[in-house]
Amino acid sequence: MPFDAAKLAADVEAFCQEVRPVEELCYAERKFNEQVVPLAKKYNLLGMSIPAEYGGRGADNVSYFKALARIGREGTPVRTFFSGHLSIGAYPIQTWGSDAGKKKYLPAAARGEKILAFGLTEPEAGSNPREMSTTYEKKGNQYILNGVKYLISNGGVADAIIVFGYPAGSLDDPKKRMSAFVLDTKQPGFEVESFAPNAKMGMPTSNTAMFQLNECIVPAENLLATEGDGFRVAMGTLVSGRLSVAAGCLGVIEDCLAEVIEYSKMRKQHGKEIARHQLVQEHIAMIEMDRVASESMVLRAADAKEKSANSPNDKELAREADLLSAQAKFFAANAAWDAADRAVQVWGGKGWSPLYRPARHLMDVRVCRIYEGTDEILKLKIASAVLGKEWEAFK
Ligand SMILES: Cc1cc2nc3c(=O)[nH]c(=O)nc-3n(C[C@H](O)[C@H](O)[C@H](O)COP(=O)(O)OP(=O)(O)OC[C@H]3O[C@@H](n4cnc5c(N)ncnc54)[C@H](O)[C@@H]3O)c2cc1C
Repeated sequence: MPFDAAKLAADVEAFCQEVRPVEELCYAERKFNEQVVPLAKKYNLLGMSIPAEYGGRGADNVSYFKALARIGREGTPVRTFFSGHLSIGAYPIQTWGSDAGKKKYLPAAARGEKILAFGLTEPEAGSNPREMSTTYEKKGNQYILNGVKYLISNGGVADAIIVFGYPAGSLDDPKKRMSAFVLDTKQPGFEVESFAPNAKMGMPTSNTAMFQLNECIVPAENLLATEGDGFRVAMGTLVSGRLSVAAGCLGVIEDCLAEVIEYSKMRKQHGKEIARHQLVQEHIAMIEMDRVASESMVLRAADAKEKSANSPNDKELAREADLLSAQAKFFAANAAWDAADRAVQVWGGKGWSPLYRPARHLMDVRVCRIYEGTDEILKLKIASAVLGKEWEAFK
């Protein structure tokens, strides 16, 4: 069946309306939202971007990122679930998985029987994943993995996680090359601990976890790309992940705008609706500018990603998609932070309370300036694209 963009948008809308009250309740109780997966299953959203031949809906990039923007209005925690499961979970399997790996994971992921995550970060390796110390050893038809991964979205609820490691014994070799694998979490030796919601500044309804791999077994067919190609897999996946963050941030801005419009037309001070005060209008104008600029950057990057996906051997299109998604992510994350801050200000004292949407957006969206490439790392990437590769601030 050909992909139906209107049907996907309608299903996303229905999911968002149903998830909102549940998310509000979970947020108030500061607990993981266990209804995201069943509701996403109900509306067939767990395979939105997975190709139809593997049981997904086969959405093109523009439709998929529009869906994530709509989901982003329900909050960064809900959108982060989809980014972890699809943009950085299923995407590398679709792109670099073996035939057997694709058949094993993608249909099950689309049906919601396998939840996915992406584990690159370690306690001592964040902005520079090359400093990781997870290792693997090939034994017969299997790889044996040891190491620790940290701050992994969906890590505590995932059935399979994309993990990265170096060959055992190579950590001191400056020329070592990492590999990427799909690791099943239901096995002895996989020890996971989720962060307590109160240990996080925001996103109490999202799962963030650390896990330890003690002699964990990965079948050879779960290798992504080829041995030694893991860094390319990680960086390629981040293009998809960054766009998902940018799209989610656009949704946050849209929701902040809706909240300030409604509130400022209703709330009266000094004898009139606060929307009539010029300084309040300045906040509204700036949120609208955050929205307009972010939207055009997200759509431009999504279009570049689609063109690159349609011509996978074109390096120039891949470079363009990579840069535009980094720019969109950097811009939209900062614009969403600005929009949420302004929404809190327009709502005044009420806006400061996490019982309302502006404060929740402010606390939740802050992480978008950190994960999938911090502001600083993205600025350096953008600057070196302008200056030339030989001016890269770090290698
Ligand atoms: C809620 C949450 C969810 C996450 N989900 C995932 C996930 O699903 N999968 C995953 O793999 N990771 C995930 N992460 C981890 C995230 O990607 C990292 O936190 C991020 O990459 C930054 O790494 P770090 O925290 O180690 O900071 P560091 O790398 O230690 O950076 C600290 C500061 O130094 C700056 N800095 C570092 N190097 C440079 C440089 N060369 N030049 C200038 N400034 C520099 C950084 O920009 C930052 O400001 C998540 C994090 C959070 C908080």
